[in-house]
Amino acid sequence: AVRLAYENVSHAYDEVLAVDRVDLQIEPAEIVCLLGPSGCGKTTLLKLAAGLEIPASGRVLIDGLEVSGPARFVPPEKRGVGLMFQDFALFPHLSILANVKFGLAGLPRDVAEAEARKALQRVGLERYADLYPHALSGGEQQRVALARAVAPRPSVLLMDEPFSGLDSRLRDDVREETLAVLRETRATCIIVTHDPEEAMRMADRIVLMRSGRVVQAGSAADLYHSPTDLAVARFFSELNEVPGIVAGGVVSTPLGTFGRQGVVDGEAVTVCVRPHGVQVAPAGSGQVPGRLISRRFLGEVELLEIAVDGLDMPIKARARQTVTAAVGSEVGILIDEAAVLMFPV
Ligand code: ADP
Ligand code: MG
Repeated sequence: AVRLAYENVSHAYDEVLAVDRVDLQIEPAEIVCLLGPSGCGKTTLLKLAAGLEIPASGRVLIDGLEVSGPARFVPPEKRGVGLMFQDFALFPHLSILANVKFGLAGLPRDVAEAEARKALQRVGLERYADLYPHALSGGEQQRVALARAVAPRPSVLLMDEPFSGLDSRLRDDVREETLAVLRETRATCIIVTHDPEEAMRMADRIVLMRSGRVVQAGSAADLYHSPTDLAVARFFSELNEVPGIVAGGVVSTPLGTFGRQGVVDGEAVTVCVRPHGVQVAPAGSGQVPGRLISRRFLGEVELLEIAVDGLDMPIKARARQTVTAAVGSEVGILIDEAAVLMFPV
């Protein structure tokens, strides 16, 4: 397995700075999920590693060797990089086997055939070798695309929103399959996604981007528990956001006072409470009085909205226990301080 490194890499299209001074190392056989809103530079970052774009400045290294930079440009086909892009389209006029063999054109025919069959076997579709793509379901086609990407045994595999075309049930299966293949091939991998939950499921490490820059990189737990700013926090979960003022070492909000977390006295802050940390109690027993305005039963949890005096938006709660209060009735709410985050305004 090899290391993929970006060193101070920038790239612009005409006036648009798509990637802005990115430093990032992906360790051998590591699976990194690149996460961020549309237009933040994720696809461009992949293209720079693949050799489909040339960086305006900085270097890309694979296995310690400069592949893009002032000194060298190694063409895409010589990089040992596999790509699986969003529109993974298979060639409709080629059999499944021929599709998978496509990336193996450099090999002797019988070797290419054997490798292609092995790759199909790996995704559990060897029996479809002689069929054509239209005969397969979306999820099966996706797995063929995965087989095609891994057949040449790339040391680096770059996947751009590979699961976005699949419905949710199927997506879980294909994700698991992909993880199994990645573990087996030990490819160093970047998976681009805009879905935080997908990133948390798949990644050894998550890299969050915004406006061409890396905002935060770390484990799913790091990003969830210690987001660097409000935008990162919002990305990872639904939040109740209320204004707070820090004074005397505590933070006062319409939801009561909280211990200060990394913010300073005199500062105006945004206090965020994750909905799972909001507990709805009988009227009079909570920290803050409110009125239950809606409830939606989702099976394992119930989503509740509570109107609180002085707040424009209702407070959202995700309750695990049955709440007996009826819609329209007065309730009290309790906040679990472990579900609270705060950021300077
Ligand atoms: P993402 O994959 O995160 O959605 P991209 O890397 O595709 O982001 O794009 C980053 C920025 O670069 C966007 O502002 C986009 O409009 C711009 N961009 C991407 N590709 C091109 C291109 N070929 N020509 C001009 N601008 C582009
Ligand atoms: Mg993209």
